[in-house]
Amino acid sequence: MRQKRSKNYRKQMAIYRMAFQFRQPYQVLLDGDIIYDATKYKMNLEKSLEACVQGTIKPMITQCCIKSLYDRGKDAEGAIALAKTFERRRCNHQENPLSQEECLASVVNIKGKNKHRYVVGTQNYKLRGQFRALAATPMMYINRSVMIMEPISPATEAAKRKWEQDKLSAGLNDPHHTHMTVTAKR
Ligand SMILES: [Zn+2]
Repeated sequence: MRQKRSKNYRKQMAIYRMAFQFRQPYQVLLDGDIIYDATKYKMNLEKSLEACVQGTIKPMITQCCIKSLYDRGKDAEGAIALAKTFERRRCNHQENPLSQEECLASVVNIKGKNKHRYVVGTQNYKLRGQFRALAATPMMYINRSVMIMEPISPATEAAKRKWEQDKLSAGLNDPHHTHMTVTAKR
């Protein structure tokens, strides 16, 4: 990975950890397509995800997303075998399977929050657009056999600023922490 990109990703993950309590191993929720593309490009999916977040991960897949791989048929054998090694995230859509897009939206977005602190790996451009509006949702995708992490979205940036302000005013209201807060702010 290029050095500058690596540095950016490290900074981004530090923000997710500090302001939004992300912890390792990061739970990476993958759609069927990113798994399929990784096998198509002969990438080591887990290694390239870990290289991006620069930490340990727990890859996960929903029932609907693994179904999408089965729907691809024989062509997806390698991807299915790989997906089977990942933790299955119950989405409770078994009776009426949803599209990957709908399934991931319902699992990730809990009342307007990324409650379970998922990192989302999806090849779906529209879905990534949707998740940009959901603060603190790191996203990854494959572009021509390179794993890419999306930049911090404006919604995430705004939530981070609010977190900083809250921290600062909490410090100012508590005389014991005033000095510490001022020092940290410099
Ligand atoms: Zn589902």
